[in-house]
Amino acid sequence: MEAPDFKEFAKAMTDYIAEYLENIRDRQVVPSVKPGYLRPLVPEQAPQQPEPWTAVMADIERVVMSGVTHWHSPRFHAYFPTANSYPAIVADMLSGAIACIGFTWIASPACTELEVVMLDWLGQMLGLPEEFLARSGGEAGGVIQGTASEATLVALLGAKSRMMQRVKEQHPEWSDTDILSKLVGYCNKQAHSSVERAGLLGGVRLKSLQPDGQRRLRGDTLRDAIDEDIRNGLIPFYVVATLGTTSSCTFDALDEIGDVCLSHGIWLHVDAAYAGSAFICPEYRYLMKGVEKADSFNFNPHKWMLVNFDCSAMWLKQPRWIVDAFNVDPLYLKHDQQGSAPDYRHWQIPLGRRFRALELWFVLRLYGVENLQKHIRRQIALAHLFEKLCTSDDRFELFEEVTMGLVCFKLKGSNEINEELLRRINGRGKIHLVPPKIDDVYFLRLAICSRFSEESDIHISWEEIKSSADEVLKSQKK
Ligand code: PLP
Repeated sequence: MEAPDFKEFAKAMTDYIAEYLENIRDRQVVPSVKPGYLRPLVPEQAPQQPEPWTAVMADIERVVMSGVTHWHSPRFHAYFPTANSYPAIVADMLSGAIACIGFTWIASPACTELEVVMLDWLGQMLGLPEEFLARSGGEAGGVIQGTASEATLVALLGAKSRMMQRVKEQHPEWSDTDILSKLVGYCNKQAHSSVERAGLLGGVRLKSLQPDGQRRLRGDTLRDAIDEDIRNGLIPFYVVATLGTTSSCTFDALDEIGDVCLSHGIWLHVDAAYAGSAFICPEYRYLMKGVEKADSFNFNPHKWMLVNFDCSAMWLKQPRWIVDAFNVDPLYLKHDQQGSAPDYRHWQIPLGRRFRALELWFVLRLYGVENLQKHIRRQIALAHLFEKLCTSDDRFELFEEVTMGLVCFKLKGSNEINEELLRRINGRGKIHLVPPKIDDVYFLRLAICSRFSEESDIHISWEEIKSSADEVLKSQKK
C-alpha cells in the first residue's frame, strides 16, 4: 500500500470508528455467535494477490463486528472498565508509524524521555510522594508496564533480590536455595489472581490472609502472620496491598500495612489497578493514606483513565533492585550514554516495548486534568445512581459499600436465586454483568464501564435487572 491509498483508507477508518463508537449503545452488547463462527466467514488461505482496502472495510461488520463483545457500550457492566478515547486512538496511530522499540535510551530517546516525564506528570496528578518521582533527582521514577500483573511480578522480583542480598550478608554460609525456600510474601485473600501467579512465576511462597469484616487486609492480621512465620524460620519479604479489589472494590488498610512492612524491612507493593485513577481527585486520596510507606505503586490508566490498553503505570522508589538484579548486558544493547537516562529494558520482563507514552501525553493534554477528574466523578455518580435505584427496591440489597464506579448487589435470598437472576439478565442479551462469590455469597456486580454512559443508560440497565428479577421471583412462586 502506498501513501495515497493509506490516506484514503485511514480516513475511511476514522469515519467508521467515530460512527461505531458514537452509536455503540445500539449494538447487542455480547454477540450471539458460537465457537468456530469465524472460520467459515473467511477463505481457507491467505490471498496470493493484494486485495483493495475497500474489500477489507466491507468485511469488518460481517467477520469482526458480528463476534465482538462491545466493552464500550453503556450496556456493558462486566469486569472493570477498559479505557478508550479518541486522543489515545490517534496516539496509537502515531506510535504505529514511528514503530520504534524503545528498550534502551539510544534505541529511541524520545520514547524513554517522554515516558519518564509522563510518569512524573501522572505521579503528581495522583499526589504520589516525591520519592517515587524521577524529578526528585534520585534513582526513583515511573515506567509503563503492559499490565498490573507484570507490575506485581516485577515488584516481587525486586523484593526477592533485595531480601536475598540482605540475608546473604547476614548468613554468607546459606546457599541461594536455602534462602529461597524460606522466603514468604503476603496479600489479602481478595487480592487479584495475578498476585498468586506472581508467586508461582517468581518461585516463592505467597500467603493469602483473611481480611476483616469489610474485606480489608488489616495491619494486625499481617503482623500476626509475619511473627508466626519468623518464629517458624521463614523470611517475610513481600506484601501486596490492594486498593480496589477486583470482586468488590474494597481497600486494604494501607497505612497499617505500611507500618508493619517498615518495621520488618519488607517490600510493600500497592496494586491499585482499577481504583488508582480515582486518586487524581483529591477527595479519594484518603483511600491511599500511607502510600509513602510503599516501595512500589501501580495502577492502570488503561482501565479508568481514558488511555487505551496497554498502559499500566508503575513507580519504584529503588529501581536498582530490578535494574541491577536482572542486568544482562550484551554488547549489541550497550550504548555511550548508559547510566544518564533509564534503559527501560531493565525495568520490565520483555526486551521490546512500544512507544506507549504517546497515548498518555495525548490524553493528558487533550483532556486536561480537570476533564479527567470530571470523567471519574461522573462515573462514580452514575454508580451511586444505580445504588439508589437498587436500594429503593426492597427485594434487593447491597453486598458492599459503593466507593468507586462499582455496585455489588444481590436479591435478598439464596445464592441459587441470584445465579438464576444473572443467568436471566445475561440470557436476555441486553446488558452484560459478571458475578463474584465471596465467603460463599454469590452476588452481582455492576461496573460503570463506558465513557458514553448517561443517567438514562443506568435507568435502562436497572429496568432490565428489575424485569429479570420479576421473572425469577415469579418462577420461584410457581
Ligand atoms: N489487580 C487488580 C486489583 C485488578 O482488578 C486487575 C484486573 O482487573 C488486575 C490486577 C490485573 O490487571 P491486568 O490485566 O492489567 O494485569
